[in-house]
Amino acid sequence: MSDSVKRINHVALVVEDLATALTFWRDALGLPVGHTESNPAEDVDIAFLPVGDSEIELLKPTDPESGIGKYLAKKGQGIHHICLEVTDIEATIQRLTGHGFEMINETPRIRPDGTRYAFVHPKSAFGVLVELYEA
Ligand code: ZN
Repeated sequence: MSDSVKRINHVALVVEDLATALTFWRDALGLPVGHTESNPAEDVDIAFLPVGDSEIELLKPTDPESGIGKYLAKKGQGIHHICLEVTDIEATIQRLTGHGFEMINETPRIRPDGTRYAFVHPKSAFGVLVELYEA
């Protein structure tokens, strides 16, 4: 058990269409849809599906020219990132960079609800985009 990583907060999947993706995640698997929201700042519509102590987040790009829109065009549908909830995001960033790993965000960014997050560069995490999140 890590002293700083508490849990998987969410796994984010990029999809072409929320309603179509929900036929699998909600209708066939039976996961509840917690809520859905539009995030114009990040050019995505999101459906949140709670799974135990974590969530699956379905991300649907609303602008093909956005970062995530280009990601979908280039890589297709699939896992976009894994989010780890940490107790102290600055300490975790410091620990990672101290081990020579590269961050996309060396200082945490802040969401409108006050939560802080930072992404680890996927080339430092063996091909996986990892989001750190502090509530
Ligand atoms: Zn995320």
